[in-house]
Formats: sequence, structure tokens, C-alpha cells
Amino acid sequence: MTVAITGNTYPVKDQIKALGGRWDADRKAWMVPDDRADEARKLVAGSPSKFSCDAGRRPTKCRMCGHVERRNARGYPIGDRILRSGECQSCYEERKMGY
Ligand SMILES: [Zn+2]
Repeated sequence: MTVAITGNTYPVKDQIKALGGRWDADRKAWMVPDDRADEARKLVAGSPSKFSCDAGRRPTKCRMCGHVERRNARGYPIGDRILRSGECQSCYEERKMGY
């Protein structure tokens, strides 16, 4: 029996492999023997998340209205920016105004 381990596995992939894990590309999960699954989960839970750059993880689509952030060739936003909270500037301002 194997158990699928997902989450922030990239920083600890070598350790998971050492536990007998195999990468399942279809599931996008590590398949780990179930007697090692707890160890693997602990590795993933404690893995550093700084590996991917923070800017790449910023939301680019508003979760309120679906507006997608656009940037010009120089990287400046065109129109509404998407804020860290996952909403665009307009939705943020509407919420702040209490509409
Ligand atoms: Zn919006």
C-alpha cells in the first residue's frame, strides 16, 4: 500500500525519495509506503516555503470579480492591480467603502 503525499514537497523531495517514495506525475503527488507516510508528512509540514520567490506567488486574478492583472512590457500594471489579499484594487476599495 502507498499513500499520496502532496503539498510543499519540492524542498524535501530527496528525503521523501529516501523513504521509498515515488513521484506520480499524474497525481502530482509522492506515493510513499504507508508505514513511512507519517514521516513523509512531517517532512512536508516542516519544509521551508521560501523556495519559490514571493513575487511569483502573488495572486494575479481577483477572487471577487475575476479581473486578471495585466502588466506592460516594463512590468507596470495596466488598470487595476491585484492586491495581496487576492482582490483587485476596485474590489478592495468597494469593500473599504462598505458597499
Ligand atoms: Zn475585483
